[in-house]
Amino acid sequence: MCKLSTFFYESSYLLEPQSRQYFHCLLEEITRLNKIDTLEDVFDRFLSNTHIFKDREVLRHDYIPDKLPHRDEQINCLGGIVAPVLRGSPCSNAFIYGKTGTGKTAVTKYVLNRLSSKAQQLGASIEVCYVNCRLAGTEYRVLSSLCDALDVKVPFTGLAVGEVFDRFKEGLDQQRKIFIVVLDEIDALIKTRGDMLLYELTRVNETLRHGRTSIIGISNDLRFKEFLDPRVLSSLSEEEIVFRPYDATELQDILWRRAQMAFAEGALLDSAVSLCAALAAAEHGDARRALDLLRVAGELAEREGATCVSEANVREAEKRVEHDRIAEVLENLPLHSKLVLCSVYLLGKTKVSYTITGDIYGIYCELCDQSGLSSLTQRRVSGLISELDMIGLLNARVVSMGRYGRTKKIRLGVGRSLVRKVFTDNDRFRDLVGYVPNCLSGV
Ligand code: ADP
Ligand code: MG
Repeated sequence: MCKLSTFFYESSYLLEPQSRQYFHCLLEEITRLNKIDTLEDVFDRFLSNTHIFKDREVLRHDYIPDKLPHRDEQINCLGGIVAPVLRGSPCSNAFIYGKTGTGKTAVTKYVLNRLSSKAQQLGASIEVCYVNCRLAGTEYRVLSSLCDALDVKVPFTGLAVGEVFDRFKEGLDQQRKIFIVVLDEIDALIKTRGDMLLYELTRVNETLRHGRTSIIGISNDLRFKEFLDPRVLSSLSEEEIVFRPYDATELQDILWRRAQMAFAEGALLDSAVSLCAALAAAEHGDARRALDLLRVAGELAEREGATCVSEANVREAEKRVEHDRIAEVLENLPLHSKLVLCSVYLLGKTKVSYTITGDIYGIYCELCDQSGLSSLTQRRVSGLISELDMIGLLNARVVSMGRYGRTKKIRLGVGRSLVRKVFTDNDRFRDLVGYVPNCLSGV
């Protein structure tokens, strides 16, 4: 169709100008109708293919299943920690940690939902507030979520953090409630903003007359404790619960239970489920990754009009999920790590296959200048390079230069197009990815 219309367009110069215009309109209309038809096909194919999924909602990240197999120990432990609130006494603070996808969020929400229902039955005066600190992003937003849960009005922005905190305390005291605060992904907030909020929250009971607060902190980073002031740490981790990674058999079990709810009967091969579990277990036993693989594999099978999800669909899903995951890690990097990565990206434009710390630092300083930020020392930047190397966004290799000693050769550890895409979508970095550093303008 495309070739034919090009042919008609090209031969239309033989016609009278008026007929030519009419002819062009006609061709455009045909092309438009043709596009509508292909889209119609896509929709029809989708509608006639309802036999892969039965209920895809249960594969969403925030879905909490009725049963959480292989987490009885953690469920009972957290249940025991929060139970005193049913008798009107505050509970101990708890600190939960484990790698991503080990069920921390699901278990905590599950236990607290059950606690809230029980409290309602008994008429116990408790309030639970769950905040994802990474998504909230600032102390202000975390505190305003806490205020929301107590029906205390706080403007979207504009107040000093101290003022919001005072309103929170006042609301808590007036309502005479036991308030359980869940601070999920607290590591993300502490790393960028420090532990001030946590410090204030762990001390809030000292100034309250009637209300009481208990904190449940959840961290994906096992080294998170190192970032905390010892006083904050000792009061936060009155109780600790560790979530170890799932093994392949456990993941398979979790996947099967969920798959039975999500997929139509016979739409999923055993081997596809086993492969999802094996791939996720090979990394670090991440149930979210396993579920993502299953969902994306199902979507791919659906799109190609297959009758069931195959191993090949899972392999293809693995590529996509990996791509999305790297993009997410990139987006969530702290600002200066992003600047370092952007510097390596810019250096890569010169077609040099690797770079050294000194070159990266030169460009990094220019980017800081461009963005009106003060640059970190070369030593700190070198540390950031090592961290980026550890999470695989950079590849750093120490090579011997003979009698000139040793040097670190660095290059991007992920695809350039992905880095460019993530940075182009970011307001602060949109211009920086196209920036030509002075030290490279002659190259
Ligand atoms: P984390 O908070 O540790 O990163 P999540 O609690 O978000 O992990 O779990 C990731 C996904 O895996 C969620 O969709 C969750 O429902 C599911 N999941 C985790 N553990 C289990 C389990 N034991 N049983 C069923 N689903 C689980
Ligand atoms: Mg979580």
